Amino acid sequence: MPVTTRFAPSPTGLLHVGNLRQVIHNWLFARAHGGRFLLRIDDTDPARSEERFVDAIRADLAWLGITPDGEERQSERFALYEAAFERLRDEGHIYPCYESAEELDIRRKVLLSRGLPPVYERTSLALTEAERVDREAQGIRPHWRFRLDHDAPIIWQDLVRGEQHFDPRLLSDPVIRRADGSWLYMLPSAIDDADMGISHVIRGEDHVSNTATQIQMFTAMGAPVPAFAHTALLTGSEGKLSKRLGSLGIAHFRDSGIEPAALIAKLARLGTADPVEPFVDPAPLIASFDFGRFGRAPARFDEAELAQLNARIIHQLPFEAVADRLPAGMDKAAWEAIRPNLETVAGAADWWSIVTGAAPDLAAEAALGDDDRAYLAQAAAVAATLDWTADPWHGLTGALKEATGRKGKALFLPLRLALTGRAHGPDMAALLPLIGEQQAIARLAAAAE
Ligand code: GLU
Repeated sequence: MPVTTRFAPSPTGLLHVGNLRQVIHNWLFARAHGGRFLLRIDDTDPARSEERFVDAIRADLAWLGITPDGEERQSERFALYEAAFERLRDEGHIYPCYESAEELDIRRKVLLSRGLPPVYERTSLALTEAERVDREAQGIRPHWRFRLDHDAPIIWQDLVRGEQHFDPRLLSDPVIRRADGSWLYMLPSAIDDADMGISHVIRGEDHVSNTATQIQMFTAMGAPVPAFAHTALLTGSEGKLSKRLGSLGIAHFRDSGIEPAALIAKLARLGTADPVEPFVDPAPLIASFDFGRFGRAPARFDEAELAQLNARIIHQLPFEAVADRLPAGMDKAAWEAIRPNLETVAGAADWWSIVTGAAPDLAAEAALGDDDRAYLAQAAAVAATLDWTADPWHGLTGALKEATGRKGKALFLPLRLALTGRAHGPDMAALLPLIGEQQAIARLAAAAE
């Protein structure tokens, strides 16, 4: 069976970091196996699904640079679900139920109070034809349950969790369709996974018990059962399941200056035995992607670590990758000079204004003493004699070292302060030619006053 994966969000909200991780896993696994990766919009619930969330999901994938090999929408596939439903019903795999929510709730409480598992007792399955007709005559419209096969133990080799066992007797027959005819998630998903040839269902471990019942649905439909990988959930940096994670989406990351490559590099390896590395290109992530490397413990998502990874990625980004986000006039040489100092691409604008702007504000440099001022006056004079086409920084500092005997910090820091207004920053050898002869001499002279 060729590898086909799917990311299947319900468009009822924005994707959060846990969803994004699922996108990335499904995409990497498909790419690693030369397979297909589908986006499936699970919009069977018209009351809760919104078109703006469909658009947002597409935009999020596009921002990540992830292009699905196809997109499907459940709301366009109701005829297929209806046909499968009728067949499964006629074969006895689906049956009508007449209990009200209150009745079910009472039974659950009774069972729990007796120390029994609160499993649906199949009361409606036991109804005679006459009793069913009677309920319908009272105007009760049935909802529908899938009848689990109690004699078929559920076992699968989960690619992350290893062998999984479920006793179907301990599971309730799942409700698959409401009395108004609308669909719950469970059956349409299995129908689609079968119809779309999904070979691997990759999702969070909150779906493990759904998998148990869906395996029986595949079997009832006579469809091959896909492989499953249920990854451990994410926790926040404080180690707990955090509410904050649920609200962290692409908008937050983009606004904080996080690059798509950083998010991919982080989420691809988080919770695995492999190190998180600053890959600009996903090829090594694809080549090494393997569910055997995933652990079963919850994975801790730490935004501070993401920011560090992001900086390491930015330090490698080529000019072409960022050109449209740089201030006007900033060229390749400027990007390469400034890049090693950045935590976000947006930060380039600050350095560019330092390079191109008027003389820096020296108010902060109260530390410049009288000898530093004399030294800077000397530096301005030396700067006027340099060959600016070669390597002016080494020319300048070499000449000043010889003339003054200064070295180390005493040699470099006053120059950096005078030229940039800051004590730290990009390599001066790369920055000085960008500042340029005239402006550099003017800044040194101004600081000497
Ligand atoms: N629409 C379901 C969800 O968002 C899909 C789960 C699945 O991957 O099967 O939870």
